[in-house]
Amino acid sequence: MAEKKVPFTKEQIEKIIEKYPTPFHIYDEKAIRENAKRFYKAFSWVPGGFKNYFAVKALPNPYIMKILKEEGMGADCSSLPELLLSEKVGIKGENIMFTSNNTPAQEYKKAKELGAIINLDDITHIPFLEKTAGLPDLVCFRYNPGPLKEGNSIIGNPEEAKYGFTRQQLFDGYKLLKEKGVKRFGIHTMVASNELNPDYFIETAEILFDLVVEVFEKVGVKIELVNLGGGIGIPYKPEQKAVDLEYVSAGIKKAYEEKIKAKPLDPLKIVMECGRMVTGPFGYLVSQAIHKKETYKNYIGIDACMANLMRPALYGAYHHITNMNNPDGKKDRIYDVVGSLCENNDKFAINREMAETKPGDIIVIHETGAHGYAMGFNYNGKLRSAELLLLPDGSVKKIRRAETVDDYFATLDLSGL
Ligand SMILES: *Cc1c(COP(=O)(O)O)cnc(C)c1O
Repeated sequence: MAEKKVPFTKEQIEKIIEKYPTPFHIYDEKAIRENAKRFYKAFSWVPGGFKNYFAVKALPNPYIMKILKEEGMGADCSSLPELLLSEKVGIKGENIMFTSNNTPAQEYKKAKELGAIINLDDITHIPFLEKTAGLPDLVCFRYNPGPLKEGNSIIGNPEEAKYGFTRQQLFDGYKLLKEKGVKRFGIHTMVASNELNPDYFIETAEILFDLVVEVFEKVGVKIELVNLGGGIGIPYKPEQKAVDLEYVSAGIKKAYEEKIKAKPLDPLKIVMECGRMVTGPFGYLVSQAIHKKETYKNYIGIDACMANLMRPALYGAYHHITNMNNPDGKKDRIYDVVGSLCENNDKFAINREMAETKPGDIIVIHETGAHGYAMGFNYNGKLRSAELLLLPDGSVKKIRRAETVDDYFATLDLSGL
């Protein structure tokens, strides 16, 4: 099995650790920019323009959002703080997609104030939005394909998902918007996450293109924006392959030419809301082994815990681990790599084949650039780590300090004791 690469040498990371104690997440700016450029290049053919709205929840750090803004991305938000983060970075207007659900009134107000594209999750949100914030020029609906006809093997079971409009509600909703004087329209769907099958995204586009045509024919509403959602997966395991963006793009282009070209609907804007594939592979949780324990199993205890990366505990997710002190050693040991929470699922790896590991070794956990820091929490009094940016020239910038015990106490007023 090929070893996954890290963007720093052992000597470099030792230097960084001298200045910034472990654990921390470090993000590779150069790789993030190169990946963003490749993503945009793949979709440069889109007649009405292509944009990825970075799903802020994946990595809600304004320094990262600024880099992505410079690469042409917008922000996909679903809460008030995410909207405020975008505002701080200078992402405004239709560079914000507000795709939320069960949305509180104040969040609609802020989204409207910023001029965001508001993507409604339910038909009852039309009057709710009208009442609380007023209807914007451009309104988008989230479609839930529900029990799709046979022939679509990839879309799992959207009937069980809380999101989106039914098919009939879409037609009724666009009709209602038209009656209310809304002039510009979008359509969105997203029913999968971390999907590695490239055909899934082509099928999603086909479904939405067909709907754009049907809505035009049935309701006379001309949709200008097709939002294919996020959900492009990343290869967490060394043997997995990244989604071939050029292949996805070619498939969507073919569907566009068949279904949209030569109709009055051309040119359409095609946008996505990817988060994971934008930053996930380019983040690393850097920690150090502090204990080695041999009981019924062999454990490597590190100075990070589930509060720094919840995915293994939450989903049983695989994250590759590199021991920087023994990167090429024979993987003839079997370890559970664990944190220090009083929860037995606080494990980064279970029964992992690894090279011999000792206390003091630098342990790097891969693909933590999405839903890593972002899912952090304070359970057991654990503090969130710092976030660092590895700049293209090899230097390091701190883009978020680590929490301190004072932060932990910040919401308490001890004078009432
Ligand atoms: C989470 C989410 C995304 C981003 O998904 P990724 O898997 O990170 O690409 C996009 N849109 C919505 C509505 C989401 O909830």
